Amino acid sequence: MKVMMIEKAGLISAKEVPIPVLDDFEVLIKVMSSGICGTDVHIFHGEYLGSYPIVPGHEFSGIVEKVGKQVKRIKVGDHVAVEPNIACDNCDNCLENRQNFCVNWQGVGVSKPGGMAEYVKAPEKAVFSIGDLSFDEGAFCEPLSCVLHGVEQVPLKFGDRVLVLGAGPIGMLLAATAKIRGASSITQVDKNESRLEMAKSYAADFIYNDLETLKGQFFDVVIEASGSKYLLENSLHYAREGGSVLFFGVPGKDLIINLSPFEIFSRSLKIIGTYTSVRNSIQAIRLMQSHQIDVRPLINPVLPLEAFGQGIQALDEGRSGVMKVMIRPQQ
Ligand SMILES: [Zn+2]
Ligand SMILES: [Zn+2]
Repeated sequence: MKVMMIEKAGLISAKEVPIPVLDDFEVLIKVMSSGICGTDVHIFHGEYLGSYPIVPGHEFSGIVEKVGKQVKRIKVGDHVAVEPNIACDNCDNCLENRQNFCVNWQGVGVSKPGGMAEYVKAPEKAVFSIGDLSFDEGAFCEPLSCVLHGVEQVPLKFGDRVLVLGAGPIGMLLAATAKIRGASSITQVDKNESRLEMAKSYAADFIYNDLETLKGQFFDVVIEASGSKYLLENSLHYAREGGSVLFFGVPGKDLIINLSPFEIFSRSLKIIGTYTSVRNSIQAIRLMQSHQIDVRPLINPVLPLEAFGQGIQALDEGRSGVMKVMIRPQQ
């Protein structure tokens, strides 16, 4: 089968490798849609967890081609998405429902071969039926799960005014999720005009291309969705007294920022971190199936497997109009 491989930081190549062999508890999936994530860009640059060489791709969906002898819930022909974080379910963290911090953690597309391939395997417990969702929507199961987990960490109340910093695909999902959780208004900020326009037609009520023009100490909840130093450092100033600031965007591993502890103390701010997801796949699938979250406007461009490197480059350069790059390995 064909795969795209990140051989080491900075080097992507197309390879032919054998189709994965299943153990009794595993499922073989013919990959139909596989999204490129900011994490893949970090892996490409050597700035993230993960070992090389790696077949990337942790946001994917497809058709079940084959199942192991002990597989019960999933059947050949099912349309499925995968929760790529594989937990052992038997360490101290797993036993207290912190599977995202499993000490024996494995990540499909991070430490195990992922979805930038014609076929991929995963344990049955990580595989979820997507019913009649499209495969492109199914590929959003993972990023949407992370967004749901993040927003669930925030004390977001009905009527809250929410500020989202960044209008990439994740910023858009955060905005839409905050809205269905009861926000009365979403204000979204990005420097990229085409993304802002899109934000306005997606979930934002107000858009700004510049933080300076925005009212300070006003928002009940601020969500940082870029990981950039500038936005992280400024995020606190926009929260009201007692407000919450969610750090969602993935910053560079070595980034250090300046924050004022006196500001946090004197205005009683809550800074909240969030890491991946914990059992949010079914929620994500249901919210897409009920159309409460529509991910389809966020897909652009759609590319064949060989163009994975071009997709990484387009994201890296922040090319105009590029949102979630979707790879379709069977095209
Ligand atoms: Zn991702
Ligand atoms: Zn564990």
